[in-house]
Amino acid sequence: MIDRPEISLRLSQLVKADRVPHALLFIGNMGWGTLDVALELAEVLLCQNPQNGKKCTTCNACLKSNRQLHPDLHFAFPVIKKDNKKREDTTSKDFLIEWREILESSRYFNGKEWAEKISAENKQLNINTTECNEIIKKLGLKSFEGSNKVMIIYLAEYLGKEGNRLLKLIEEPPEDTFLFLVAESQEMILNTILSRCQLFPVSPLSDQMINGYLSNYNIEDNRKEEIVFLSNGNLRTAQNLVNDQSRFDLSNQLLTWLRINYLFDKKPADVFSWVDGFAKLGKTSQNSFLEYFLHFLREYQLSLLTDMPLRLSVSEQESAQKMKKIIDLHKVEKLSEIINNLHYNLSRNANTKIELAHTSMEICNLLHRKAVSV
Ligand SMILES: [Zn+2]
Repeated sequence: MIDRPEISLRLSQLVKADRVPHALLFIGNMGWGTLDVALELAEVLLCQNPQNGKKCTTCNACLKSNRQLHPDLHFAFPVIKKDNKKREDTTSKDFLIEWREILESSRYFNGKEWAEKISAENKQLNINTTECNEIIKKLGLKSFEGSNKVMIIYLAEYLGKEGNRLLKLIEEPPEDTFLFLVAESQEMILNTILSRCQLFPVSPLSDQMINGYLSNYNIEDNRKEEIVFLSNGNLRTAQNLVNDQSRFDLSNQLLTWLRINYLFDKKPADVFSWVDGFAKLGKTSQNSFLEYFLHFLREYQLSLLTDMPLRLSVSEQESAQKMKKIIDLHKVEKLSEIINNLHYNLSRNANTKIELAHTSMEICNLLHRKAVSV
């Protein structure tokens, strides 16, 4: 979906030279396309007619893997207990429908979105012993289509010590078998596994790539620039901002909220009606707003400290300029703390209106406080 010339070149060179490692650990934020990169390589390995180290996209195998239906492309991922099954008997197999659906919608989803997809928000996901045994069993079988077999383990950090069952498989995989682990955090991978896999780091997408992606949509230039800045190389963030139907004008709303908070004791009704409006937005829009607020504060703080170019649009830079009379370095730190707390509390399903009204009060107090020299 996104053209990543450097990574694609590296992958195709590995394929052409027939040097694809049999156990690879792809590391990077899912929003950067870590799973997408692993899938790209898997698809070339399964393609019946690869061209110059790339998949042909038209053969039978390509058509099947494009729809997540290739019988030699296996997936394992963290799950929760399924309905009336015992937890220890539940594996990825029980959630394949959800898995295919989420992959159809985007290859850039993260663990939190996966948990939401299978209604596991408040439950502990993991990859259990039965799953590890299934992985070994599946890869021990002959391939269905007579060529390579690929197993992708999504969020391999969820392999607890059960993961040690896979060590032999990783060290001596059966012929034509590839095991791709995909993870966001290298520190959370078992050391025994880490030392046996070859690392493939995936980096954030460039602003140019995000821009290229956005050109598929009819978005005005200012908004496009805003999305590029906010997503910071994370395509998932960009997708969420594009899908945000509320058209909640982030920078305007931020200034409005600050202004009415400043006047809280004189005109409390303004704050309450803003809070009501915010509470009606979907979770995604609320999140986007708070993430935008934190992004703005980070850039604003930089503008107080350095002359570095900011990741802010022209109108935002003008707003930042005006805010300098009221918000100093000490206050911006405190404000970030307040918004961070709000973000955290809302992610834990606290009451939106109560949390927001409380935050407005805190911001009002902060803005009226005398400047503290730091
Ligand atoms: Zn093909």
